[in-house]
Amino acid sequence: MQSSKPGTTIPINNVSSTKSSHSSVFSLVKEKQKEILSDKGGVAARGKVKSYDYFAPGFGIIRSMKAGLVYDPVYLEHDTGSHPENSRRLAAIISHLEESGTKERLTLLSPRPASVEELEMVHAPEYVSQVKSKAEKGGGWLDPDTIMCPKSYEVASYAVGGLLTAVETVMKGKVSSAFALVRPPGHHATSNRAMGFCIFNNVAVAAKFALANFNIARALIADFDVHHGNGTQEVFYANPEILYFSTHQYPFYPGTGWSNETGSGEGEGTTVNFPMTAGWGDIEYLRAFNEILVPIARRFQPQLILVSAGFDPHWADSIATMQVSITGFAQMVTVLRNLAAELCQGHLVLTLEGGYNLQVVASAVRATFDVLSECPEVVDPLGKSSNESPGGFEEHIEKIKETHHLLKP
Ligand SMILES: [Zn+2]
Repeated sequence: MQSSKPGTTIPINNVSSTKSSHSSVFSLVKEKQKEILSDKGGVAARGKVKSYDYFAPGFGIIRSMKAGLVYDPVYLEHDTGSHPENSRRLAAIISHLEESGTKERLTLLSPRPASVEELEMVHAPEYVSQVKSKAEKGGGWLDPDTIMCPKSYEVASYAVGGLLTAVETVMKGKVSSAFALVRPPGHHATSNRAMGFCIFNNVAVAAKFALANFNIARALIADFDVHHGNGTQEVFYANPEILYFSTHQYPFYPGTGWSNETGSGEGEGTTVNFPMTAGWGDIEYLRAFNEILVPIARRFQPQLILVSAGFDPHWADSIATMQVSITGFAQMVTVLRNLAAELCQGHLVLTLEGGYNLQVVASAVRATFDVLSECPEVVDPLGKSSNESPGGFEEHIEKIKETHHLLKP
């Protein structure tokens, strides 16, 4: 596949009129901050200007609290050998965050392991002890796709715990948003079964933990991994407190996630599936976010947004055949960041799910942090797919609007 315009720097939000690089924007800020701070009636005088606020011509001071990064080298110790889900993914991301200077702009957060009680908020006690004893016996295959080494129970507990650390830090207001760079991923794991490279369902435990500990009644989980998060859907299918929204290639692994799967009982309507035809890309994803997720989230009024961020819908990821670009991911994260700002005081926690092209995951995670830090531009070194999009989208999105009562009378 060919990409167009490699190496471009792409404006991402409404401050895109500035053509400055980050460094020149920041140097401009220093002078402007002095000027504005001296004006007692000015915007900045109403509160302390934080170190990463910046001045955008025509928009004034843009507030930007540092985003949190949850990471620990323990995540490299889930040894899967030559499996596509391996430690080289996280190693590539971290070294890119360091080399690009992104890491130094973040608040670094150390994860703790989740307790057995916390794992059991989602998982059956027999399943948790089965995983533990399998590790103690040296590891092996938990399902045809999911392998464990002797350290994998501990690392999987830290993966869940990384999300819990992110939720705690965001809900206590120490950072506005956080991205947990953990592995193994989680969204396929059901209450009693490992599936699709996932051992424990990190994001599902985090949602239960948030509701149990932070006096909130509703949370949204948005999942843009190319695979359907069957485990997350199953855990919350009858639960009206969690809105689960997923975009995913369909038909595809794991086979679930058609648009008529909408929840059951009291949870009817709180599962929202947007299956994607192979070959669709940025335009279709962004329309699904803006025309389906945004109005449903406004109706639901979440107090926290959790995100299963999988970068395997990228056109250069060979595990699937969607055509999303780094810019497309950044646009989706911008929608989520703006929804969090509008609906839940900015409370936004992301976790890494899939994404198997090392350059893609590294660049996409950097772009995500740039969006969270409200940088006006993101870097897309791979550019957009030049493949033509197959049709059928208009009828498809209209049916999903109808299913979720979004059509105007
Ligand atoms: Zn995936």
